[in-house]
Amino acid sequence: MNAVVNENIATGPLALVREDLRDFGGYRSARSDRLQGEIWLNANESPWPNPSDADGMLRRYPDPQPQALREALAALYDCAPEQLLAGRGSDEGIDLLVRAVCRPGGDAIVVSTPTFGMYAVSARLHGTRVIDVPLRENDREWRCDFAAIGDAALAQGARIVFLCSPGNPTGALLPLDAIAALARRLEDQALVVVDEAYIEFADAPSATQLIATCRNVAVLRTLSKAHALAAARIGVVVADAALIEVLRRCQAPYPLPAACTDEALRALATEAASRTRSRIGIVRAERDALEEKLAELPGVRRVYASRANFVLARFDDAQSAFDRLLDAGIVVRDMRAAPGLGDALRISVGTPQQNATVLSVLESRA
Ligand SMILES: *Cc1c(COP(=O)(O)O)cnc(C)c1O
Repeated sequence: MNAVVNENIATGPLALVREDLRDFGGYRSARSDRLQGEIWLNANESPWPNPSDADGMLRRYPDPQPQALREALAALYDCAPEQLLAGRGSDEGIDLLVRAVCRPGGDAIVVSTPTFGMYAVSARLHGTRVIDVPLRENDREWRCDFAAIGDAALAQGARIVFLCSPGNPTGALLPLDAIAALARRLEDQALVVVDEAYIEFADAPSATQLIATCRNVAVLRTLSKAHALAAARIGVVVADAALIEVLRRCQAPYPLPAACTDEALRALATEAASRTRSRIGIVRAERDALEEKLAELPGVRRVYASRANFVLARFDDAQSAFDRLLDAGIVVRDMRAAPGLGDALRISVGTPQQNATVLSVLESRA
């Protein structure tokens, strides 16, 4: 047993964890000790429920990682429960990964802009440098320069590479074989984190299948987008079980509010029972139609091929397009502050009727 653990420390993903945290126990909450009893007087909880709490369920601290939720999420993401950490959205996963792997006030991460802003925010809050290896634009596609990312990570000592697939805001899917090759190249150097917040809309295999052979790959999944549960704040990190164990010790003592766990379990059971995921099918069809019709409008410079539930487009006059949509009560995401996107808007796919309204507003140019 000890020999196996030591071997993990030497060669596995634990070698990528901050040296000072490898034997860190974290906070021992009242729920950490698996004790048996009937009268629970170990957590300073109230012996009586709040009068508003009819079934008295809110009185106790929740299980840090409820087994039922872990199992439901593991089934959903096709991994073992031990390979998964549930938390307060994948945003918490990003933050935990940065804190567990990068030294505070040191080390570096690699991102490829334009990309999701939280990787750089978490790094900045931790005092960790952000190395940008921008995506390359090729007609309607965005490409990730995997060779340049590997070079930068090795040359500058980065500890995490954040890849977003499909990308936000680009909508571009990254090839799994290239992700695997990068992970192998960086095996002793960096964790390769694949953020798959939108993968359900891509109808493509998940990078979770790489974890068995590339133990320095971690995948972020979320219930916020395709599962329509953004307010429940549940996201997961899927990774090697040894790494998950470390992340758990770095996480807050009771990260999952009981009401959120209950809602998520109910929603997942309902979805599983209905078997059809028709919402996602409609979003995909609407996205493809929106792309095609947007591209035909005057004043639209370029529309990117998206595998997610939004469309990124460049406009001759993005301000005017944004304002006209806003005047019609439609709020889209202004991307103009993002590097290289000074003329771009990101439009989430809505209902068929909402999408038709977007198109008709943009069509009727003043
Ligand atoms: C929306 C989004 C998230 C955030 O997901 P939560 O689980 O709601 O925190 C993560 N990554 C990307 C790329 C996103 O667009």
